[in-house]
Amino acid sequence: MKNVVIIGSGLSGLSCAYYLKKNGINTAIYDQSNQIGGRIFSENIDGFICDNGFQILLNNYQEVKKILDYKDLNMNYFESGATIYTDSQMYKVYNPIFHPIKSLKSDFNKIFSYSDYLNVLKTLFINNDMSTKQYFKRSFSKSANRLFFEPFFKGVFLDDNLENDFIFFKKLFIKFAFGKAGLPKNGMYELVKQIKEKSKILNINFNMKLKNISNNIAFFQNGEKVSFDYIILALPIETINVLFNLNLKIDYNTNSTFYIKSEKNVLGKALLLVPDKKYKINSIQCLSNVSSNYSNNNKSLYSVSSNDHNAKKETIIKEFTKITKIQQSEMQLIKSYRIKKALHKNIYKIDRKDNIYFCGDWQKEPSIDGALKSGRLTAEKIINICKT
Ligand SMILES: Cc1cc2nc3c(=O)[nH]c(=O)nc-3n(C[C@H](O)[C@H](O)[C@H](O)COP(=O)(O)OP(=O)(O)OC[C@H]3O[C@@H](n4cnc5c(N)ncnc54)[C@H](O)[C@@H]3O)c2cc1C
Repeated sequence: MKNVVIIGSGLSGLSCAYYLKKNGINTAIYDQSNQIGGRIFSENIDGFICDNGFQILLNNYQEVKKILDYKDLNMNYFESGATIYTDSQMYKVYNPIFHPIKSLKSDFNKIFSYSDYLNVLKTLFINNDMSTKQYFKRSFSKSANRLFFEPFFKGVFLDDNLENDFIFFKKLFIKFAFGKAGLPKNGMYELVKQIKEKSKILNINFNMKLKNISNNIAFFQNGEKVSFDYIILALPIETINVLFNLNLKIDYNTNSTFYIKSEKNVLGKALLLVPDKKYKINSIQCLSNVSSNYSNNNKSLYSVSSNDHNAKKETIIKEFTKITKIQQSEMQLIKSYRIKKALHKNIYKIDRKDNIYFCGDWQKEPSIDGALKSGRLTAEKIINICKT
């Protein structure tokens, strides 16, 4: 039996371990942290579930379907559509695919023109090499862009400049249009727990920061050494960049998420978009309205997202009050996450080096599905080698 070692226990490393185990290959996992899951974790604070940044799970992620059971995650879904706050006014739009009647009665026609309807349909059938921003500018009306497409996808890509390519936009656009965005009842960390359970990974080693690799031995910062036949580095691209002196230029989209509790329940189950550029807030959502388990004390839990990881707490609170009309005396900030390296802007292709293999969302796309896919594809390579 070959000795296979995985470094990194984010979704890509766990997915790799899952497929290897399914094919009879046991692995040992090592991570620098003291828990598995990497960028996905949830904390329980004062009876509220706070995820590491506002993250959602779509119900039509193909790779998720291959490993996880949505039913066992007890998914709770956002209302498909959005509320939009602009110039002190609220607009409401519903996704016509899920809410055809409601969408007719909503503010759809104040935001979208007939040519927008046609161009939405056209988007499903075309390809091009434009950036998302360029595509929006060329295809949709000013109000559709300003009030819906731009703020919505700025929140998805965590990028105010919408620089990512059309292909990634189109993929997510189709997923959002025909699927539902939701949260596992008990928080995003349920994903991680379920993969761990399903893959029956027993050999997980924490506080093991990989320092370097030489002659089939992995050296860790704490002085420990581990030998291997094959090693899979399920690590962030910047760690690989340093380990192998690749000199890659890596840029990230950033995020800050603020969790606020209040007795007041003012938003429904929809995402509230804040399109005006003078605001730091990009979106607000009442998580406890989507899944009541996000709060176990009858108070409402709001998550407030900004694409500026340095956004000032005072500014966010002030804007939150202005938008929701919840006064500062009626709320309390319970946690903020400032994530400087939330999503990498580019995709990187790095070939295996002898018996060193790689996986991570940076190989495919910066998403849960991208991370799971890269883990699966890397596992398949090892499985093929072990068979021969
Ligand atoms: C704020 C935010 C919002 C997001 N929103 C969404 C969303 O709504 N939907 C969606 O699909 N995706 C979303 N994502 C993306 C998704 O979370 C990631 O794509 C995915 O979790 C990445 O998994 P990974 O295994 O590739 O990397 P990571 O999760 O980064 O895993 C890497 C692992 O390597 C370990 N490690 C690093 N260096 C070392 C070392 N030297 N030695 C040992 N271990 C090391 C780390 O501790 C970590 O466990 C979001 C991400 C963020 C941050």
